[in-house]
Amino acid sequence: MNVITPLDARSHPFLTGKPKRLFIDGKWVEAASGKTFRTCNPATGEVLAEVAEGDAEDIDRAVAAARRAFEGPWSRWKPAERQRLLLKLADLVEAHIEELSALDTLDMGAPISRTRGNRQRVLGMLRYYAGQAVSIHGETIPNSLPGEIHSFTLKEPVGVVGAIIPWNGPLGASIWKIGPALATGCTVVLKPAEEAPLTPLRLAELCQEAGVPEGVVNVVPGYGETAGAALAGHRDVDKVAFTGSHVTGQKIVQASAGNLKRVSLELGGKSPDIVFADADMDWAVPGAAMAVFSNSGQICSAGTRMFVERRIYEEFTARVAAFSKTLRVGDGIDPEVQIGPLVSAEQLDRVTGYLAIGRQEGARPLSGGERLTEGALAKGYFVPPTVFADVTDGMRIAQEEIFGPVISAIPFDSVEEVIARGNRTSFGLGSGVWTRDVTKAHQVAKGLRAGSVWVNCYQAMDPAVPFGGYKMSGYGRESGLQHVEEYLNVKAVWIRTA
Ligand code: NAD
Repeated sequence: MNVITPLDARSHPFLTGKPKRLFIDGKWVEAASGKTFRTCNPATGEVLAEVAEGDAEDIDRAVAAARRAFEGPWSRWKPAERQRLLLKLADLVEAHIEELSALDTLDMGAPISRTRGNRQRVLGMLRYYAGQAVSIHGETIPNSLPGEIHSFTLKEPVGVVGAIIPWNGPLGASIWKIGPALATGCTVVLKPAEEAPLTPLRLAELCQEAGVPEGVVNVVPGYGETAGAALAGHRDVDKVAFTGSHVTGQKIVQASAGNLKRVSLELGGKSPDIVFADADMDWAVPGAAMAVFSNSGQICSAGTRMFVERRIYEEFTARVAAFSKTLRVGDGIDPEVQIGPLVSAEQLDRVTGYLAIGRQEGARPLSGGERLTEGALAKGYFVPPTVFADVTDGMRIAQEEIFGPVISAIPFDSVEEVIARGNRTSFGLGSGVWTRDVTKAHQVAKGLRAGSVWVNCYQAMDPAVPFGGYKMSGYGRESGLQHVEEYLNVKAVWIRTA
């Protein structure tokens, strides 16, 4: 295995040498405009690479290539052939997982312990989609018409998919789009986030090595307002699979109206994490803390509204704050680090802005609360894990997605009340419950309007279990049996047999 140690990470094989171009129609090409942009390491500020900056013209080229591929020999590939391709890609990703993990860490800051820890999930996803490739089928449906008419359905790939992803987990997000596309026989144009384009480009090389036919997977880095908007509005794209903020999600839906393309949306959240007084504290304290602090809070389903039953409120919030102070913050390439930097100066402004808003609103910081600037940390975008106590439901820090390591701790008194208050948000992505009482756990799980409820755990994910949002957290599901359905059309066929 190609092991990248912290010491040689800066001479990462993908970062030395060749220019970072667009991957269109199986070839590495410059942007039509000739423009490039820089991608930086958020832990140190160092420039990692100059990357070709795709825009509308490049998206046109990529969509045309994806269309040709969709209508070409790829459409005649048998399910078992697509399965073999996915398994080969999984093996290649596994062989290069250290390199890919280090690339994610360098480009967006997540600790290497976390990016390495994603190994099982990303490989599991590719192998799960490989299984799905041979499981997709229509149904024979008896009808009640007079005479002999046979009716059945066919499941067909939706066509050219525009996939637009954020920066907070580039490898996993890319695979979550490319996997179902390959399983179903679609073709894809992937637009990575401008903050973290490197892992998706390296993944494109692995797709090439695995034998993905020309034009079936295209990767076009560029900015959202140019490349992303061009893809979302493109008349020859059949479906957009989008992951990102709800504000951009709304623009995607508007842009989709031109040709009424299919859309699936994985958006943001403001998830309630509910701690009852009877919870096992040794599980709940680190569990509720890491439900927010993992990935520096840059996780869509982070349990940022921490509701704590009033009689343990002071003790529990103090323990979470004490736990948060034990977490090691620093450059994520160090395997001992638990909390890396925020991804960018823009994210830093956003999160520190909310820290100021929290204080102005009267919330009481128990830990963190200020940007870290001592020593080497001054070069990066570091914010320590922060716990705000005395938060009320109406505060902006209790309503708006901060996307940083910030817990808003809110007291509650009863099950019915906390369900109602937990639901008082425009989002509905994740949620958590900590209790030893199975009845309460069921009641809350049933009452919360969210796509996932985690009981005595948080952020558990598996390729076989669907993930997605209620309300303004989006629609459609990724993972699980439902995921490939997002990439399929259903055709009804009627045949008169007598
Ligand atoms: P973002 O919406 O700013 O950007 C996401 C992607 O959309 C990027 O590739 C960006 O370039 C592109 N984009 C921006 N403007 C566009 C436009 N007008 N048209 C088309 N594309 C455009 O989000 P972000 O800051 O990169 O990511 C953070 C957000 O993503 C948070 O809200 C988070 O909750 C959400 N998120 C959701 C999930 C999920 O699975 N539900 C997962 C990860 C992140």
